[in-house]
Amino acid sequence: DRSNYTLEDMDRMSVFHPLTSIETHMKQGPMIIEQSKGVRLRDHKGRELIDCGAGLWCVNIGYGRPEIAQAAQQAFENLNYYHIFGGASNEPMIRLADKVLTLFRERSGAPQMARVFFGTSGSDANDTNAKLVRYYNNLRGKPEKKKIISRTGAYHGLTTMAAALTGIDIYHKAWDLDGSGVLHTSCPHFFRFGLPGETEEQFTDRLIGEIEAMIAREGAETIAAFIAEPIMGTGGALLPPKGYFEKLQPILEKNDILFIADEVITGFGRTGDWFATGLYGLKPDIVTLAKGITSAYFPVSASVISQKIWDVLEAASPEYGPVMHGFTYSGHPVGGAVGLANLKIMEEENLPANAAKVGSYLREQLKARFGDHPYIGDIRGQGLMVALEFVADKAKKTFFKAGQNPHRVVAGYAPDNGIMIRGLPFTETLAFSPPLSITEGDLDQAMDALAKSLEQAMPELRKLAAEA
Ligand code: PMP
Repeated sequence: DRSNYTLEDMDRMSVFHPLTSIETHMKQGPMIIEQSKGVRLRDHKGRELIDCGAGLWCVNIGYGRPEIAQAAQQAFENLNYYHIFGGASNEPMIRLADKVLTLFRERSGAPQMARVFFGTSGSDANDTNAKLVRYYNNLRGKPEKKKIISRTGAYHGLTTMAAALTGIDIYHKAWDLDGSGVLHTSCPHFFRFGLPGETEEQFTDRLIGEIEAMIAREGAETIAAFIAEPIMGTGGALLPPKGYFEKLQPILEKNDILFIADEVITGFGRTGDWFATGLYGLKPDIVTLAKGITSAYFPVSASVISQKIWDVLEAASPEYGPVMHGFTYSGHPVGGAVGLANLKIMEEENLPANAAKVGSYLREQLKARFGDHPYIGDIRGQGLMVALEFVADKAKKTFFKAGQNPHRVVAGYAPDNGIMIRGLPFTETLAFSPPLSITEGDLDQAMDALAKSLEQAMPELRKLAAEA
């Protein structure tokens, strides 16, 4: 009989928490989030926490918006579900597809995008995309053209195929996934991987040269697609080095290699623009969207494909039948209604513009307050996709050892100071990416809490740096 157990006991005994240190969990007990409103969470200890992560970079409009609850309730009462197999669709999903296409075409300067397929997570959307590029080439009589180039440090999800595309070891190598047909090229992280004396332009040229050599080595006739986040998220809020995409795109075009833009984090305003592909003049063939479509109020993802791909799929339809692909929850009508209500708020409150404005303020203030911190080597980002990277020795630019996790030490002190802030797994980086609705006042409060956490972590940081 478990009826006398506390919620904390039940959590420790019953819940399977992925990515949680079991030892820490058993010792400290769980953190149970009880409520959320605006940019704040409240946990079971009654702590009020500014969410510097917007969940997982997704709650763009902030928590607890009644308009979304109303839209969902109406949709539940009107048509709570019907499937998409066999050609059926529903009004909210049709309208959401149209809205997503219109926004993407207008805001990212990519009129070629033509159709939307809905899934429920960024991972399944990237699996869909990986299947689509192979299907597209099969239909064109090029079945050998099926490898996909991804990048070290990339995050594309954790379903089997998406995890193989993801370029962070703990998410894929340790799991010994089949990643056949997936190639990884170098991470475009100039601060971390630029060679001594190398300029940013030289770094770009070295990476582009590496990609050209990879294509030549493997043979362009074996490569279907290149997948990239326009600005890397989990890899550390990494802006591409100067000229990277401008130089990459013509190489892909020349070799008939499709470009998949993974805008799961960058899409819908996080960078201060509606979409990040437009920032670099990228002309994607496929775009992956998820989190920001609904601000995480309902699980919806989208694979947006270009007219060029659609033409091939459509022409093949009489011979092969429909694109036999989909999930039980693809095109869920409640997700459609929630997405529409979310995008209405995004537009009416012009949240991408707010992200641009308060994001500049945040980066300026972080640089002013923590730019001279002995263990913070880089403060970077775009809009409200911001990161602080830790270094063991600033003058010598040496890094902490793998597994030391100085950033996680700091993040560990944060909740007692009133914020949730996340340490990323690839380099020693804290992500600072709150809801797009946040104000400068709340950012000031969050930065005060970060300052306090850094101060409390100093003895441990000194010790780790000495051992690095
Ligand atoms: N792509 C990117 C760029 C992401 O950041 C994520 C999630 N953080 C995903 C794909 C996977 O999305 P999901 O967790 O919804 O499967």
